[in-house]
This record gives sequence, C-alpha cells and structure tokens, in this order.
Amino acid sequence: MSRPEIHVTLAPELRLFANSELRRERAPVAIDASSSLGHVVESLGVPLTEAGALLVDGRPAAVSHVPSAGESVEVRAVERPQRVPGAPLRFLLDVHLGTLARRLRLLGVDAAYESEDIGDPALAALSAAERRVLLSRDRGLLRRREIWAGAYVYSDRPDEQLRDVLSRFAPVLAPWTRCTACNGPLADAAKDTVAERLEHGTRRTYDVFAQCTVCERVYWRGAHHSRLEAIVEDAVREFGGSAA
Ligand SMILES: [Zn+2]
Repeated sequence: MSRPEIHVTLAPELRLFANSELRRERAPVAIDASSSLGHVVESLGVPLTEAGALLVDGRPAAVSHVPSAGESVEVRAVERPQRVPGAPLRFLLDVHLGTLARRLRLLGVDAAYESEDIGDPALAALSAAERRVLLSRDRGLLRRREIWAGAYVYSDRPDEQLRDVLSRFAPVLAPWTRCTACNGPLADAAKDTVAERLEHGTRRTYDVFAQCTVCERVYWRGAHHSRLEAIVEDAVREFGGSAA
C-alpha cells in the first residue's frame, strides 16, 4: 500500500532549498498522520523564516495545520517588504556576514555582529533577548526555535546581500550615523577634541569629524571614502528613506 501524500508547490524563490523533484509544480510529498504543515515545509529544506503565506486547496492555512492525503499545498515566499512587529527593526548577523554588517552600519542600520563565533545557541539566545532579526546563510541556525525572527541571506556576495536585506526589510536609512566598527551611534565631534587621535595629515586636511559614542573611534569625510560614498549613494538611490 502506498503512503498517503499531498501535492506541494513551492514559490520559485524557495526552490533552491528543495531537492530537484520538488522544484516543479504540484510535487508529491509523502505525509504521516501527525506532522504539521510547518514540519512538512521544513522537512523539504525550506526554513520557515522564508515561507510566507501557506495555502491549502487555495485557502490560507496555519503552520500548525496537519495536512491530510490529497491536499494541495502552496508555499509562498515572504512578502517584501516584510514587517517584523513587536520591536524596532534591528539585526544580528552571524560570524560569516561581517562585510554585510559593516555596510548596514554605514547606512545607519542597527546591525549587531561578533567577529568571534559565539556558537548557534548563543546567537539564537541573543536574537531572542534583544529582539533582533537574525541574518544567516545557515539553515540549521535559522531553524532554531528560540530565535526572535530570522532571515536567510540568499547571496554570498556582499553587494547582493545588502540589496537583499534592504529590499526585504526596508529599514530607514541614516547614512554616516553609526560606527562601522562597533555599531555604536556617532556624534559630531569638534576638531580640537579629537585632534590627538588623528595623524598629522588628517588633522591638516579635514574639518568634518564624528566620533563613536561607544568605542570613541573618530570618523571624517575624505577622499578615501569614495568607495563607501558609492555604496551609500547606490543604497539611498534605490531604497531611499534617508534621514541624513
Ligand atoms: Zn564604535
């Protein structure tokens, strides 16, 4: 006797997570009598953080729904922009996403990141404690129940990663307001108060300074910023919302 099955259609954006048989419309998936829809979706390799609306025979269903044989299930991608209610929008990035963290900070987006690997349980606990959206390319990490909210980062290239996160969450951009080294807020700094921290050439050439209120690193606008300026300009042009 064959096992009961349902038919699953994954949104095109989600098909990279699944094995090849599930990359077509209405792929048959064997079920048991007790597994919820959420469990079925995860068992296909799709992190629940990436699943948007779930439709069963065309009607919205909860992840707790236990499918029965013959049902047609459609798994949509998360809507963009995705709203994350319950806390101000802020992020926590895993150890592999340091470049993305610095670029988000450059744009004024609150992006916590530790360059040391503190381990999956600690990251998940930090996400919960500080209500931060955990960004990762590690599906196992995103499956941890204790995370506050999470999102899979689809590219391994920092410029595409940045566009992915900005288009998905539409954070308010406030370039040059946050320390790229530690995520602390910047404050304007008078030249004479930061002078002893500057090399002579910098002290002579530049007048616009800001200082991190946490780690006291000093920032100034200068020609060497052109690569960063380009990142900021591109992001603001495409995703707007600049408060600066
Ligand atoms: Zn700092």
